[in-house]
Amino acid sequence: MSTDRFAVIGDPIEHSLSPAMHTAALAAAGIDGNYEAVHVSPAQLQAAVGQLRREYRGFNVTLPHKEAILPFLDFLDPSARDVGAANTVVNAGGRLEGHNTDVGGFSAVLRQLQLDRPGLEVLVLGAGGSARAVVHALMLVGARVSLLNRDSARARRLAETASGRVAVLPHGMESLQAVVEQVDLVVNATALGLGHLADRSPLPEDVRLSPFTAVIDLIYGRRTPLLAMAAAAGCQMVDGLEMLVQQGAESFRIWTGVEPDIAAMRAACFARLEELASCSAF
Ligand code: NDP
Repeated sequence: MSTDRFAVIGDPIEHSLSPAMHTAALAAAGIDGNYEAVHVSPAQLQAAVGQLRREYRGFNVTLPHKEAILPFLDFLDPSARDVGAANTVVNAGGRLEGHNTDVGGFSAVLRQLQLDRPGLEVLVLGAGGSARAVVHALMLVGARVSLLNRDSARARRLAETASGRVAVLPHGMESLQAVVEQVDLVVNATALGLGHLADRSPLPEDVRLSPFTAVIDLIYGRRTPLLAMAAAAGCQMVDGLEMLVQQGAESFRIWTGVEPDIAAMRAACFARLEELASCSAF
């Protein structure tokens, strides 16, 4: 029997914990498979999908390909179709099926923080593939969303999919402080805080967070500038690690039909983060 191959594609991809997390899940489930990180730039995406179709049983898709991958897939599960982005692809005998498990991953985090309540006021920063999943999960719990993105047209396109419960804020607006003061939750779904943007915050430095505002930064494994602001203000805050684990667990179920060992996946992420920190590669 041949070994099943899985992967995550993205650019950058060096920071990804998915290989460690899924390798642990495969081992715990006794599945003969391997999972690797593949660097794919936007220009390489189409060719990469061709190779993945030939050689891999399934793959994850991360920044910046979650929306761009859609035209290369043969079928979209409602989760990916409704969100307009896919982070999980199943290869069913050469037919590529797109799913979105970020919605379930983010919903699980909202439940853990007891923020899954109707009327929750949320400021979402970003309008890319993961912001789409975040907004979709927030719509499912009946939240009201203010959306801020550098590219306002992209934010408006996202808002159009959300039945009138998303207000798009103009980028660079002067009254952002007033918005931040009245929301229950701020979510960073931008790339600001990661890679070459590691020292950039998605909120201007002069904005002050209230200690009653919760903060979720989808970036994981590091104290981002936004999380540093949240810590200084005494906010309840989490990074994106638990969302990563929960979306990964859902991907694993879709690929294998097996319930993964989530504790083993979480432990593998922490171990990999420590390893990366000790060799200063992260
Ligand atoms: P996309 O490429 O789809 O979107 C990137 C977002 O970041 C856009 O809103 C983009 O704004 C913004 N952005 C990028 N560069 C800049 C910049 N220089 N200044 C201002 N805004 C910028 O990426 P994803 O949505 O897939 O990922 C976004 C983040 O979420 C990443 O950090 C990723 O690691 C994290 N993530 C974490 C997950 C988890 O499980 N924890 C799951 C998914 C993502 P614009 O539209 O104006 O270009």
